[in-house]
Amino acid sequence: MTDAKLLRIVVVFFILASCQTSQLPNVSVLPGPEIPVSPPEEAPPIQEPPPRDSLTLVAAGDNLFHETLLASSRGKEGYNFAPVYAEVKSLVEKADLAFINQETVMGGEKLGYSGYPQFNTPQALAKTLAETGFDIVNHANNHAMDKGGAGLLATLDAWDAIPGVRYLGVQKTAEKPQLIITKNNISLGFLAYTYGTNGLALPKDKPWLVSLINRENMAKEIDALRPLCDFLIVSMHWGDEYAADPSAGQTSLAAFLAEHNVDLVIGHHPHVLQRFELIPRADGKNTYCFYSLGNFASNQLRKETILGGLMYVKFLKEGQETSIADAGLIPMVCHFDAYLANTRVFPLYSYTEDLLGKHWYHIRDKSLSLEYFSQVSEKLKVKVISQNPFAEEKTSAQ
Ligand SMILES: [Zn+2]
Repeated sequence: MTDAKLLRIVVVFFILASCQTSQLPNVSVLPGPEIPVSPPEEAPPIQEPPPRDSLTLVAAGDNLFHETLLASSRGKEGYNFAPVYAEVKSLVEKADLAFINQETVMGGEKLGYSGYPQFNTPQALAKTLAETGFDIVNHANNHAMDKGGAGLLATLDAWDAIPGVRYLGVQKTAEKPQLIITKNNISLGFLAYTYGTNGLALPKDKPWLVSLINRENMAKEIDALRPLCDFLIVSMHWGDEYAADPSAGQTSLAAFLAEHNVDLVIGHHPHVLQRFELIPRADGKNTYCFYSLGNFASNQLRKETILGGLMYVKFLKEGQETSIADAGLIPMVCHFDAYLANTRVFPLYSYTEDLLGKHWYHIRDKSLSLEYFSQVSEKLKVKVISQNPFAEEKTSAQ
């Protein structure tokens, strides 16, 4: 073979090889010669991506202060409720907004502190809940009238004295104020309703004091608030106590809320966890429905009332497009020792065998186990969150 012939073969080989290369998709990591590209005749305007805003909301279920919980929180210098929430503070305060169903009123000392059946909890609890990170407090529940109109109004005064906290489902005036909270450029509209007030009548001169479930009123209020906010959230105190499944009344109301384009339903009252459901809406979106979050802090002594859940939802807004980016439940254990002392709420992911060994219920019945908690959580048809979701966000952002 002559040198010239060899050169031709080599050249042909390189041309073929380069042809093959050019058929590959244009992947930027492939090394290659820079090919000059002539600019298009009319360059399209550079479009800025729409701003991407997000907002996280957590929600806790029934916060129920029994006589034993009052007794174990009483010290020489008055009531100290901070230890009850010490294990969840780092979780709750990291959320952009945090909701709680405060099942008991805080009507002041004059009305007498009491546990079941007509509760009155010291107002020190309001301060502790705010310090824990809760800023949206529901009082539309069946215990709202436990100490009459005076007890509820004094409770609302206690909340009004704490900056940054908004209450929900109860109002001081006949004209119900609309609650819209805007944070991170995202607006959330809130409404709350309860099935009743344990047969205790609302004051004759203030029949509007507590928002009751009434489809006609609800439709009006929801439809009025809907266009004013990015996301509409309705708190529902409903269902049957200790029922593992939502009642026909709950599912029917959830369908009604979906018909009115409610984005998120925060359910409570049964004192036990109930399933999650995504309900399709006519507008193509979904209503996220947490039928029951169970208990938060309580001294209820049934096995099913010990595990509750902290709802976690992440809202997203890109330009005018709104969506729910993430929704799940952090299972929560309400711990109390022998003699019902040392009540503390723990995320299940940080609850240990050692703590379980000291739990009042476990001492009596070993079937209350970490495995039992996991099994209950798995049946809820919800994404179960088994680590601090805010810690995860921080890691991924680094
Ligand atoms: Zn209730």
